[in-house]
Amino acid sequence: MAHKFVDNYRERGARKKLVEILGDRGIQDKNVLKAIAKVPRHYFFDETFWIQAYKDIAFPIGDGQTISQPYTVAYQTELLHIKRGDKVLEIGTGSGYQTCILLELGAQVYTIERKENLFNRTIQVLPHMGYHPEFFCGDGSKGILEHAPYDKILVTAGAPFVPEILLKQLKIGGVLVIPVGDENAQKMVTVLRVSETDYEKFELDTFRFVPLVGDQAW
Ligand code: SAH
Repeated sequence: MAHKFVDNYRERGARKKLVEILGDRGIQDKNVLKAIAKVPRHYFFDETFWIQAYKDIAFPIGDGQTISQPYTVAYQTELLHIKRGDKVLEIGTGSGYQTCILLELGAQVYTIERKENLFNRTIQVLPHMGYHPEFFCGDGSKGILEHAPYDKILVTAGAPFVPEILLKQLKIGGVLVIPVGDENAQKMVTVLRVSETDYEKFELDTFRFVPLVGDQAW
């Protein structure tokens, strides 16, 4: 991957247009749109494909995985209602783009990726861009117990069910956002932990993610 980190008017202009598209598609949270306007998404692409970076599409990042579609990133982020200082667990670092968006919103981010080569890439690229989450390599379907509880947990891969073990790692008042379904389509699910024992679950729109693979997953 060539990383020259050039961010000129051309890229900034394309990013502005992307923000408009996302607004038209229904993303309302101003802070989320601001974060999208700020993070140089083309840095996650090989220079040959920069033209693709600000289209509202998912894109291969190698190893059969994808950088999520900007709309999907914005949609999931909006559902999290990130407040400055929120402790967030992100499962499925992938390119690290979503991670940067969470950091721009002032979250303290713990991010875990199971594919070693993707992990090795993001631990280089993100700090170089000035983004500093806590990186982990391993199976995130079980969460990261050592650092629990979290204000928010975000799963960026499609799960067959909501892992109970993730719910237990939420603070009271905490929120889990996770796409749940089969390999073709998943419903976005949010779960709010209302008390020690009670949860409220909501099912929203349909998406298509790469599968969450692991102990509490496929
Ligand atoms: N937010 C990322 C999305 C990447 S796709 C981005 O915008 O780039 C989902 C990622 O989840 C893939 O990189 C995949 O390898 C990873 N993944 C799948 N199952 C996982 C698991 N059990 N633990 C951690 N990461 C997982």
